[in-house]
Amino acid sequence: MLDQTTRRALIETAAKRVIDHAEELTELDQAIGDGDHGINMKRGLEAVLADLDGLAAKSLPDALKAIGMTLVMKVGGASGPLYGTLAMTLGKELPEDPSRADLARALTAAIEAVKNRGKSEVGQKTLLDVLAPVAEALSHEGDPAKAAATAADATIPMKAIRGRASFLGDRSIGHMDPGARSSALLVAAIAETTEHAIRLAAGKSV
Ligand code: ADP
Ligand code: MG
Repeated sequence: MLDQTTRRALIETAAKRVIDHAEELTELDQAIGDGDHGINMKRGLEAVLADLDGLAAKSLPDALKAIGMTLVMKVGGASGPLYGTLAMTLGKELPEDPSRADLARALTAAIEAVKNRGKSEVGQKTLLDVLAPVAEALSHEGDPAKAAATAADATIPMKAIRGRASFLGDRSIGHMDPGARSSALLVAAIAETTEHAIRLAAGKSV
């Protein structure tokens, strides 16, 4: 299933989805951070798109490792090293053509790596609050995109304990975490593209 065309579509769709929502991400970060999350992600993902053909020609693990390095170098902020660690660990953990179980296991390992890097835990109003429920959904036949959207909404009433938003204390309550939103956008785009590729492979629709 995971041929070069699908790899290309996965990278392109995920990157473009976040770039298309850069303004929204920036507005979320203006409310509880410094207003650069959309700009940061856009810069990093445009660098990814600039090498789309080269990345799609690599195996999935190698492409993810390369994307991770680009994100570390180009996104900046707190989220660059964290998304970079996420992608690089997924690259280390995933086989070339992963099953759903492989995805669940690799994402769980990548979440642990992000926690170590960010000295953070689930429940602190960060992107981890979306990634953890997605790993859970993947290992229990749940819908990862739905789990991600619900989890991003669930960061609204949370109080930030990590990242810049934590400087606001109780005033961080009532706003969606920008990193949670960008994670939900990425998960939705990846899930849609995967489902489309599976339908195509089954010859059911276009
Ligand atoms: P910065 O906070 O440096 O301006 P961004 O605005 O790009 O960086 O990213 C902010 C997002 O990064 C937050 O919304 C949160 O989801 C995530 N984040 C920040 N610090 C941490 C951390 N220590 N652990 C996990 N996620 C974090
Ligand atoms: Mg910021």
